[in-house]
Amino acid sequence: MKSNLSRRIQALEPSATLAMAAKAKELKAAGRTVYDLSLGEPDFCTPQHICEAAVAAMQSGQTHYTVASGIPALKEAVIQQYKERHGLDYSLANVVVSNGAKHALHNIFTVLIDEGEEVIIPAPYWVSYAELVKLAGGVPVIVSTRQENNFKLTAAQLRENCTEKTKCLLLCSPSNPTGSMYSGDELGELADVVLEKDLWVISDEIYENLIYGDNVFVSFPTVRPGLQERTCLVNGVSKTYAMTGWRIGWTIAPADVSKKMASLQSQETSNPCSISQYAALAALQGSQQCVADMLAEFAKRRDFCARRIEEIQGLSCPVMGGAFYAFINISAHLGRKYGDKMIATDTDWCLELLEKKGVAMVMGSAFGAPGYARASFATSMENLEKAFALIEEFVAE
Ligand code: PMP
Ligand code: GLU
Repeated sequence: MKSNLSRRIQALEPSATLAMAAKAKELKAAGRTVYDLSLGEPDFCTPQHICEAAVAAMQSGQTHYTVASGIPALKEAVIQQYKERHGLDYSLANVVVSNGAKHALHNIFTVLIDEGEEVIIPAPYWVSYAELVKLAGGVPVIVSTRQENNFKLTAAQLRENCTEKTKCLLLCSPSNPTGSMYSGDELGELADVVLEKDLWVISDEIYENLIYGDNVFVSFPTVRPGLQERTCLVNGVSKTYAMTGWRIGWTIAPADVSKKMASLQSQETSNPCSISQYAALAALQGSQQCVADMLAEFAKRRDFCARRIEEIQGLSCPVMGGAFYAFINISAHLGRKYGDKMIATDTDWCLELLEKKGVAMVMGSAFGAPGYARASFATSMENLEKAFALIEEFVAE
């Protein structure tokens, strides 16, 4: 009998972040106490004024299909935001609203990548990038970066990894999973190679509002002239406004790319949820105090995690400029025994930590960086205090 499954789907790995979160939930449901640092999902409720806008949208009949690529009002709000914050000019023809930034990425790869074309992805990278590239028939070219360099790709590395088949570079700053950020100068150096090699860039800017201390967020197309016509910007409301469940993200791309993305979406999913689109509109247009309040809380947690990682023997992590992840180097604790059990890999370490101490983190190898574990601090301070006390116990034992 012929296989039921296509080759592309057989090669697809499930999302490790979502799998780890599901495992933590399963243990909780079975009655275990679990401190879940697995998922990058703000623990705050979606702000009230956004929920009220969704109710108002439902009650006023905004419950039908919209234009497949999203309502013009939301696109206008996205355009205005990029104009005000970054001085970039876009029009309605550049914006496509999708079912979350993940869906936006899937659409971009489908529209840009031909079979066998290469996409350069600096590692550590967010789990879905490589899988979505493969799903579109592309080849992810994973380029490892170093902790000493705060996990940033250098211009020399980019140049060395370009081949005739290289189509684009994928950037995520601030980064999931490391929290590290590129400066304007560093982006400029990468941009010079991008222009020289005639590459596309996908710039995932979903954490642009979660920035700590003196760090400054720089949107990629602003660093050199001529980048807007070769860059697809990805952003959304999930992280900034604690709206992960509403599923709204967007792409800002050159008009020929966004036109094809809109056609693809019109065949695949039609519009993203009409009610969520009105909620996202309220998020962008309403007071941004809720963002500042959540950021202040994240900043306290980030400082706490940085301090605890430094205190616990054998652990270290890069400087967390933004996002809400600590990417912890656990390599000093690998190749050792915990009880009778040999802890050889980061996966062993994470699974044993979950099993023995009830702390859930995601293994670095899922992000292309063995020897690390990612802790999301999008959870309460109380959970973090307890979790780090248990991690300290675990490594001491
Ligand atoms: N990009 C990055 C870097 C992320 O961490 C996430 C988190 N899920 C996404 C994209 C997708 O976000 P969403 O689909 O919830 O909008
Ligand atoms: N981006 C989040 C994370 O990395 C959510 C999970 C996912 O979409 O994979 O944990």
